[in-house]
Amino acid sequence: MTDLEIATRITPAPIREIAEKLSISEEHLEYYGKYKAKLPLSLLDEKEVKKSKLILVTAITPTPAGEGKTTTTIGLVDALNQIGKKSTAVIREPSLGPVFGIKGGAAGGGHSQVIPMEDINLHFTGDFSAIEKANNLLAVLIDNNMQSKKRSLQLDPRKVLWKRTLDMNDRALRNIVLGLGGTNGGIPRESGFNITAASEVMAILCQSKSIADLKERFANIYIGDTVSGQAIFARDLNAQGAMAALMKEAIKPNLVQTLEHNPAIIHGGPFANIAQGTNSILATKIGMSLSDYVVTEGGFGSDLGAEKFLNIKCREAEIAPKAIVLVATVRALKYHGGQALKELETENIEALEQGFANLDGHLNALKSFGVPVVISINVFSSDTEAEKSLLLDYCEKLGVAAALSEGWAKGGLGCMELAQKVAETAEQMDSSELKFTYNLEDNTLTKIEKVAKIIYGAESVILTNAAKNKLRRFEELGYGNLPICIAKTQKSLSDDEKKLGRPQGFEVQIRDFEIAAGAGFIIPIAGEILRMPGLPLVPAAEKIDIEEDGTITGLF
Ligand code: ADP
Ligand code: MG
Repeated sequence: MTDLEIATRITPAPIREIAEKLSISEEHLEYYGKYKAKLPLSLLDEKEVKKSKLILVTAITPTPAGEGKTTTTIGLVDALNQIGKKSTAVIREPSLGPVFGIKGGAAGGGHSQVIPMEDINLHFTGDFSAIEKANNLLAVLIDNNMQSKKRSLQLDPRKVLWKRTLDMNDRALRNIVLGLGGTNGGIPRESGFNITAASEVMAILCQSKSIADLKERFANIYIGDTVSGQAIFARDLNAQGAMAALMKEAIKPNLVQTLEHNPAIIHGGPFANIAQGTNSILATKIGMSLSDYVVTEGGFGSDLGAEKFLNIKCREAEIAPKAIVLVATVRALKYHGGQALKELETENIEALEQGFANLDGHLNALKSFGVPVVISINVFSSDTEAEKSLLLDYCEKLGVAAALSEGWAKGGLGCMELAQKVAETAEQMDSSELKFTYNLEDNTLTKIEKVAKIIYGAESVILTNAAKNKLRRFEELGYGNLPICIAKTQKSLSDDEKKLGRPQGFEVQIRDFEIAAGAGFIIPIAGEILRMPGLPLVPAAEKIDIEEDGTITGLF
């Protein structure tokens, strides 16, 4: 059965019933049809947030298919509810880029999914569209300003950094020339589009703590420089008010449900390579205000999603997880141990043993934060008994709690042991102190070195001359105390996607810097990171269809 078939066989409970589980009164529920609702920000209660237990799900270095963090997050929530812990999943919204690109959902898989998955994957409640509009409004104000003689800020058309966004894998828009058509068509200049999930507006939404904060962050967006080299911000165009107005609904988290009718809050979806890779602070805190446990996810492996979740999001939100679930698969470990991608379904004990090094690397990184780790072995039907027990034995040898989890095949029932271990671990964890990898007062290079050495296992960091110049500029502008959000490949613990396993002795090269002044982080760029992906040779879009009665088919 496909994910869509599994998902559509279950009739969702009316969203009112899900809200009741969280003691949300009817007046606080803003319905988007029968099965979706927006939650007002007034539900956030800092006192309750402090009592709630946050669980972060992360993973070892993934294979291209993903190792099952979302699936595990949802299975774990269903299992925690089964053992009497009032739990909510809080996750990101899918981008249409991957939906129409490479087959594979962002709403979990198998028997651990959030529903209605067709809605969640296709437009959902329109948040991404609002983000696009807010982003593009600023772009339009910029071009309009350059066109005007009387009010011109003297922006240098070659130095405008702000781009337009669209939530599609549209490589043809990655680099464009705009402003053609003579004097009435604007000032011709080079620009481009970012996919919505990679836009700064998305990153800002997810870091914002209130509407006032959202406005302040929009005002702080660094647009580019004037011809005389002066920095210009969105506030210079008075853009923040109208941008925030466009976000009036998008800022509210969305309530849906798991296949087992437990609450799931889905809100915001920044990528984890170029941005912070986790849902909004507001969604996490509203989830924590309403339930004893919140299980959430950071994108890609722990070197990206978890590092940013902890150093950027938790620092800003003043929250900390009570336990971290590290998802590992026999498949990915064999891949790191040298087994070819096409042969991951064949037993290979030696490759598995070789691949343990990657698990070691992630455990080592996570230990530095002072939060206890539980390993969740996401079981695939191709895993053999010998492979599973070898991995379990290895975890025992390391002295790390571990459980096989079968959320994909069995839903919550498949994650009972994991839930027990996570609950035990979280309940024993009395400290909510998080050991950050770096201090905000460290200079930017020191911050990068600390992340590279402690999290990636690197030997050293070098900056190209171009990067040094950019950094100097950002430091002059007063951004030296911001956290860093390193843009790096997800395919390796290092910055070289070909280095599998646990690379040692490598140097991380930073070739450029970008700034997300509104979101509040500096982005050191290690390697080539696309902010506008393209579609594959056979796009998933070719299989998606709708029947006369409105039924969607072919979606995963
Ligand atoms: P991540 O969040 O880490 O990217 P997902 O949970 O989205 O990973 O899973 C990636 C893909 O793998 C999804 O299509 C999901 O259905 C599938 N998947 C996850 N776990 C399993 C499993 N145990 N067996 C088979 N397929 C799985
Ligand atoms: Mg995921």
